[in-house]
Amino acid sequence: MRLLIIEDHRAMRDMIANYFRDRGFAADAVGRGEDALAAAATVAYDAVIIDLGLPDMDGMEVLRRLRSEVGIDVPALIVTARDSVRDRISGLDAGADDYVLKPFDITELEARLRAVLRRPGSREELFRLYGDVRFDPASRTASIAGTPLGLTRREVAVLETLVSASGRTVVKDMLEDQLYGFDQAVSGNAVEAAISRLRRKLAAAGSNVRVEAVRGIGYRLRTGERC
Ligand code: CA
Repeated sequence: MRLLIIEDHRAMRDMIANYFRDRGFAADAVGRGEDALAAAATVAYDAVIIDLGLPDMDGMEVLRRLRSEVGIDVPALIVTARDSVRDRISGLDAGADDYVLKPFDITELEARLRAVLRRPGSREELFRLYGDVRFDPASRTASIAGTPLGLTRREVAVLETLVSASGRTVVKDMLEDQLYGFDQAVSGNAVEAAISRLRRKLAAAGSNVRVEAVRGIGYRLRTGERC
């Protein structure tokens, strides 16, 4: 799951981005409204966290333009020190799903984000299934017949992308994208390493799902007997 974080205060931006990366999200963090619009035009995000006080335009304006010009309909959380009723209403009018006041506890931000991701009508389903693998996008966990797989955040990111593709081949570049935000380097064999651990864990859990390599292209999920 990939987040766009729009916050001009550098320490705050890094803190939020690192927190969510540690929890298995891919997070791109920008400090200006124009950068947010440019990022959202080229990358598909699952949710947006947006500060209202930005140097080049108001966060509500950014949100309106993300909705109307870029056409993204994913959940958006406003993070702000403004707490007047009027600001809250115009934030919701601009297309925000929820509102978190600064100063906030980062665990509250995470709880609000998970809540809007779970909300009916948001793009995320409650969980995704492939074979006997059940993936819960909100809690970032996967299980086989009710037993958690115990995946690292990289393995979670790879499995989520493969499950979402429902057996279609996912190109390796796209899996690399899922491992990190675009401001972090990915080591050359990060995808292979995550796939290999994922295969071991699926096999150890007795899953009927296996990860198949498509030579020179990427990977896909298959169910049933090994061939
Ligand atoms: Ca600000």
